[in-house]
Amino acid sequence: MRKINTECCVLGAGPAGLAAALELSKKGIKDIVIVEKNSIVGGLSRTEIRDNYRFDVGPHRFFTKNKEINALWHNTLGKDFIPVERLTRIYYKNKFFNYPIKAGDVVTKLGPVELFHAMASFALAKLKPKTEENTFEEWISNRFGTKLFNTFFKTYTEKVWGIPCNEIGAEWAAQRIKGLDIIEVIKNSFGTRSQKKIKTLVDQFDYPLLGAGQMYEAWADKIHAAGAEILLSTSVKKFNLKDSAIASVICVTPSGEEVEIIANQYFSSIPLTHFFKLTDGFSDEKINRAVNALYYRDHITVDLLIDEINVFPDQWIYIHSPEVKMARIANYNNFSKKMVNHENKTALSVEYFAFQTEELWKTSDNDLIELAKDELKFMGLADREKVVKAWVVRETESYPTYYLGFKEHYETLKNEIGKFTNLYPVGRGGMYKYNNQDHSIMSGLLAARNYLTKGEDPYNLWDINEDAEYHESAARENKTS
Ligand SMILES: Cc1cc2nc3c(=O)[nH]c(=O)nc-3n(C[C@H](O)[C@H](O)[C@H](O)COP(=O)(O)OP(=O)(O)OC[C@H]3O[C@@H](n4cnc5c(N)ncnc54)[C@H](O)[C@@H]3O)c2cc1C
Repeated sequence: MRKINTECCVLGAGPAGLAAALELSKKGIKDIVIVEKNSIVGGLSRTEIRDNYRFDVGPHRFFTKNKEINALWHNTLGKDFIPVERLTRIYYKNKFFNYPIKAGDVVTKLGPVELFHAMASFALAKLKPKTEENTFEEWISNRFGTKLFNTFFKTYTEKVWGIPCNEIGAEWAAQRIKGLDIIEVIKNSFGTRSQKKIKTLVDQFDYPLLGAGQMYEAWADKIHAAGAEILLSTSVKKFNLKDSAIASVICVTPSGEEVEIIANQYFSSIPLTHFFKLTDGFSDEKINRAVNALYYRDHITVDLLIDEINVFPDQWIYIHSPEVKMARIANYNNFSKKMVNHENKTALSVEYFAFQTEELWKTSDNDLIELAKDELKFMGLADREKVVKAWVVRETESYPTYYLGFKEHYETLKNEIGKFTNLYPVGRGGMYKYNNQDHSIMSGLLAARNYLTKGEDPYNLWDINEDAEYHESAARENKTS
């Protein structure tokens, strides 16, 4: 078996892995090998090119409160990183509601009966809030009332996660829509929002001219130019362990050749549970239970080329209607005109969420394309015959699932992986954290900085908070827990 000796080995070339490699190479480390199973870099934030049209894996907006990451993105792409005025709506009962919800819009479109119901259930939520806020349903209902929860949150959320909202932990709501309640919605509707930036209300975001992946392709070029080797279409198949360290990693290249990589330090952004499954096994029953208990939701994008322009004005639409299986639809013409290579065509992506055991996942690509066409027609967005080409992209382990009770298993694996002396787990799948790009990038940057301190490890990567502001507070406090 071919052996590669290197100082640092990075597993996964998504934002987290590439951020680690970028930081290491900036600090003069040239001896880096990056292993990536896909044929292009960017991970979930990559951009696939089909017939010269560009599609992300679901829509990706760039937004962060972290000044360092914001500067890094801007410095990487300069003029190619453009501001986009956000328009996103919710499709529910044949109507399009603004998202974030606007009070006036809800009042005019909901109709008097549903509006009365919404106001009554909101009043009830305020007078008699649920005492426990353990689940997504409890968290949202306490802030909006059950009627608005059912109308604007329930169906989409259940499509995404594949489990009922009363089995989804409140952590997800707190992370995704932190700070949002009806008062903020009303203030936002009348343009009197408070100074605090609520992620879900942000009305402008940045975006690379050529798609989200352009950012990470640029990073990969820099890392490669600084001397690192990037092995694409190469999968990690096994971790060889020795005591509390990783002795080597076995990978399989596109030709089927096995390669053994022996490194001083490993940075892993491959799914946390896979790390445990790709070893010779752990004898501790608690660990094995945790490995089997934690699971990810998988994701399908049906990319469609439409022979029409102005299909809809939004960057994306959340589909709350239970009559269709699609959860969201994105229009890349409204992100950047450079995503489409023909002025009379539109590049759309329709998203479905499924577990690999579900019928939807097992449906053939052709049938998924037919389903997407039917659903577009049903919602009055595009006629079937306007779809001139279509492609399907499947992504496994896309959403680490914050189901009720996941924390106990998460803590078990977090503690166990933390015992390895030459491994930093990083990123969304790698740390089982529902990260946006910025948190993943921060985990990669800080892991690299930990390594560069040669054992001091001043940053606790697990403490990176949901707004990726960690670095600023970490710099002030030097070290948290
Ligand atoms: C549909 C969707 C929409 C999103 N929208 C947004 C958004 O609007 N804004 C935002 O900021 N974030 C968004 N995100 C989140 C964003 O995509 C992630 O936060 C980011 O890509 C995570 O980076 P990462 O490097 O941690 O993980 P990943 O991007 O998952 O990268 C991990 C890499 O590891 C590789 N890998 C896995 N297993 C192996 C193996 N065995 N061998 C070799 N390589 C392996 C994978 O191929 C992948 O390239 C979205 C995610 C999804 C799924």
